[in-house]
Amino acid sequence: MQFFDSHCHFDFIEFNADRVALWQACKAKGITRLLIPGVAPGQWQRAAQLCAGYDGFCYAAGIHPHWIEQQPWFQKDPADLLSEPTRDHIAALIQQEVVQPACVAVGECGLDKMIATSLDVQQQLLAVHIELANQVHKPLIIHCVRAHNELLASLKKNKANHGGVIHAFSGSYEMAQQYVELGFYLGVGGTVTYERAQKTRAALAKIPLEHLVLETDAPDMPLQGKQGQRNSPEYIPQIAQVLAGLRGLDTAEIAAATWANAMALFHCN
Ligand SMILES: [Zn+2]
Repeated sequence: MQFFDSHCHFDFIEFNADRVALWQACKAKGITRLLIPGVAPGQWQRAAQLCAGYDGFCYAAGIHPHWIEQQPWFQKDPADLLSEPTRDHIAALIQQEVVQPACVAVGECGLDKMIATSLDVQQQLLAVHIELANQVHKPLIIHCVRAHNELLASLKKNKANHGGVIHAFSGSYEMAQQYVELGFYLGVGGTVTYERAQKTRAALAKIPLEHLVLETDAPDMPLQGKQGQRNSPEYIPQIAQVLAGLRGLDTAEIAAATWANAMALFHCN
């Protein structure tokens, strides 16, 4: 079995102490591919460096909603919505990065209602990412917390021509179906391991397998039973096993399908 962790913050300091040994352990368990999402301009280079040093790594370039307020343009004028020069500046930064061969997607970007940053600013920044992804013909990695209706509205207004992943999908079957119709894959992660996540589990049991990819979001989003601990890409097979159980399939079938989906989406070979 081979596994692709389509969303792992392997560059974060939580992995500084044991990064090399951890990737060895992952490979021994069949996890041979990993995508590092972008969170902010200064971090993309670190992701790129890791990709150069590890087999099977790729990354994305984008601005995560949680990092918006740390950006210099936001600090200058937090009350203002993104001006045209600011939007152009951000787009140019991402555009310079996505020419790197290991940079396979734009993101992670998106909408998060659990943070103080205004939704207006988040939506404008999301639109910048969608436009740029269309320009450079790349998929998007999208973060969405309690803002599915707003995100769906944004994606209907600004069509993402190369689709992408709704990372750490949590929501109903109807919601999932709408993303699939818009050309998106759903990222299946730790949430699916929690029995109380009934709506999400039911959705992911029913959505056709060709629209799902696996992810950990490590070091965040620990699996059931591992709350409070660092999450790790080595738990991908456990997520696959839970998804297999929900769908009445073998873990090997989940591994094969989600592997093929991620490889196709990110044009890996
Ligand atoms: Zn993430």
